[in-house]
Amino acid sequence: MLTLLANAKINLYLEIIGSRPDGFHELVMVMQSVNLADRIDLKPLNTPTIRIICNHPQVPTDHTNLAYKAVSLIQKRFPSRTNQRGGVEITIDKKIPVGAGLAGGSANAAAVLFGLDMLWQLGLTRIGLQELGAELGSDVPFCLAGGCAIATGRGEEVDVLRKSPKLFAVLAKYESTSVSTPWAYQTYRAEFEHTYLNLDNFATLEERRSRIHAGKMVEAVSAQNAAKVGAQLHNDLEKVVLPAYPKVTQLKATMADIARDRGGLGTMMSGSGPTVFTLTDNLVQAGTIQREVRSHFNDPDLKVYVAPFATHGIVARP
Ligand code: ATP
Repeated sequence: MLTLLANAKINLYLEIIGSRPDGFHELVMVMQSVNLADRIDLKPLNTPTIRIICNHPQVPTDHTNLAYKAVSLIQKRFPSRTNQRGGVEITIDKKIPVGAGLAGGSANAAAVLFGLDMLWQLGLTRIGLQELGAELGSDVPFCLAGGCAIATGRGEEVDVLRKSPKLFAVLAKYESTSVSTPWAYQTYRAEFEHTYLNLDNFATLEERRSRIHAGKMVEAVSAQNAAKVGAQLHNDLEKVVLPAYPKVTQLKATMADIARDRGGLGTMMSGSGPTVFTLTDNLVQAGTIQREVRSHFNDPDLKVYVAPFATHGIVARP
């Protein structure tokens, strides 16, 4: 049996720059792992069966689960190893909110790829794992890399940044509210396609991708300047998600007010939402912001977490 911890991610920066011929969006993002983790237990089975057990009612346990898809992909790519080893039972202890913009499903898929590589001694390199991960979902390569990284392309091209400041994220999500990631991007396309860059021109695309490396968020992260990281938070998807979810708009406004009073550094929605986070460089402050957000709304449906920035995406438990 192998136990892994799979961290959630937040987006410190998410900019949509255009449409790709494959139908996805061309993105420039800065992503950060946070220590809010699902626990994944992998138990080898003698037959090639894939069995998923999960304690969260919204998570499917059939072939549509991303963890299931990760095993299927490995079984397809390594048939002789599958004949020797068989299958696997995966137990997911869900702590990452579902449909939250925190890449919970992608983190699970990343953990399964990482874990099967260890269990079945596949000898995959970090790059090899990330290439497999990209076939499962755009966020999976980042979840494998972990820490802080620039992500370009549809999100699957990951450049890890060596340093990032030691910050804490206070994350808040209404348990009963989820946002579909495809809906968020389709709505963005419908409203903002006229602003997209023409990416047929390769030079334009390369110039635009490389600009993130010299951008203000990466500069702030590399300088470990917490205040500047807070000031540079940006997420284009807020433009479509917030108007459609007034409760989330209200949550963001209130968290920003509380953060301002309590020395928070900035407040933003993560990914396609609806999770809203506030950054702070102080654990005590994070706890204060968490308590104040909870007591302001006094709503059992609103879950508020404190998660430190993490240096890893997936960690194997000894
Ligand atoms: P992202 O930020 O990558 O867009 P998300 O955090 O918004 O993802 P997830 O929590 O990954 O969303 O889940 C989105 C949907 O995927 C869920 O509603 C669920 O039906 C499905 N799903 C499939 N596998 C998993 C998994 N292992 N964990 C969570 N959800 C899963």
